[in-house]
Amino acid sequence: MQVEIIPCLQDNYSYLIIDKTNYSACVIDPSESGPIINFINKNNIKLKYILNTHHHFDHIGGNEELKSKFGSTILGFKDDSHRIPKIDILLEDNQIWKAENFAAKIIHVPGHTSGHICFHFFNEKLAFTGDTLFSLGCGRIFEGTYEEMFSSLNKIKSLPMETKIYCGHEYTLDNSKFCIKHDPKNEKLKKKIDNIKKKIKGGLPTIPTTIHEELDCNIFLRSKDLKSFSKLRDLKDNF
Ligand code: ZN
Ligand code: FE
Repeated sequence: MQVEIIPCLQDNYSYLIIDKTNYSACVIDPSESGPIINFINKNNIKLKYILNTHHHFDHIGGNEELKSKFGSTILGFKDDSHRIPKIDILLEDNQIWKAENFAAKIIHVPGHTSGHICFHFFNEKLAFTGDTLFSLGCGRIFEGTYEEMFSSLNKIKSLPMETKIYCGHEYTLDNSKFCIKHDPKNEKLKKKIDNIKKKIKGGLPTIPTTIHEELDCNIFLRSKDLKSFSKLRDLKDNF
């Protein structure tokens, strides 16, 4: 499997997972159809599945056009069937979704939205975390409680350390400023920030990150308890 990062809109990332044996692909969170259609046409890929982490417009904006153009099947969380356009397959927490050579475990991670899910491609050790876990940050809590978000992050945290994390936005540099402010002595974080700056300067994505790196550097994953997590989340909202 090969993962292609497709920048969309202002700072969104959509991702294509391509099976190199037959050129079948899944797209994660198509913000808009244009950049994805371009890539698919250039590379002769068959877009079989559209996977949505949650219903926000910048994650589902391409659903309808991609489905009608390529006949793709759309997947999302069962409780969000009313707000994920053109949904076909309703996913449940802890379900293993398998199709062709693709296999992902569905992890329900409420907090940013009530129906947010994460796709864990366990064979390849990849996780698509949408707007729940970002590199050096986490999503705003729109529909859930602090407790839900905290426990959702704990679920993601417990994936194998080497798991590659692909999130919904390029927020890493901004997030790093908040992390370093509250964790100024973290040497691993300083090193990661140097790295991030180099990538941004070179016009490259800072994604993927890994569980390992986030455990070392992401202040939200490092917070010991719900109380300190909630405090950080509040401070970040006004940062
Ligand atoms: Zn969102
Ligand atoms: Fe988003």
